[in-house]
Amino acid sequence: MARIQALRLNARELLREPGLQKHVELTTPATDLGVDDDRIVDDVTIDLMATSGVDSVVVHGTLTMPWEAPCRRCLTDLAGTATIEVDEVYQYAGDILSDDDQTFPIENDQIDLLSAVREHLMLELPDDVLCGDDCAGIRLEPGDAPDVVTRDDDTPVRDERWAALDDLRLDD
Ligand SMILES: [Zn+2]
Repeated sequence: MARIQALRLNARELLREPGLQKHVELTTPATDLGVDDDRIVDDVTIDLMATSGVDSVVVHGTLTMPWEAPCRRCLTDLAGTATIEVDEVYQYAGDILSDDDQTFPIENDQIDLLSAVREHLMLELPDDVLCGDDCAGIRLEPGDAPDVVTRDDDTPVRDERWAALDDLRLDD
């Protein structure tokens, strides 16, 4: 995909002197970024600024991801837009401290933002959303009263679980 070439920055150029900046702005289907997930319902927007230091490049900005997913308790479809903060450091492998796993390596003089972008998107995929903190859900917890299901005309519909009680007659 030609568009995502914009996510490859020339590290040598940026590190020519501290303070140089490169703005990356692009809107693209998540599938072009290698993230194929039904919950991402529209294009992802990438807005990142790379700023060079003495021997590292800091990448800062946001990703915007429109999503849809069901409430994990009541399964109501929910939708939203996740705004994901990105804050990464890129360095030549030789400059990275051995115990530093927060820094991405610069390889072949290239800063490849794609893997970081992909990682952030996957982490923020909604898999534990609630329609509200007080969502009662559809599961009957022990001790709860049985649900009264209503039709559109507001006529209460009997819970089938209680139908057996109708056939139960107690002798005096
Ligand atoms: Zn819910």
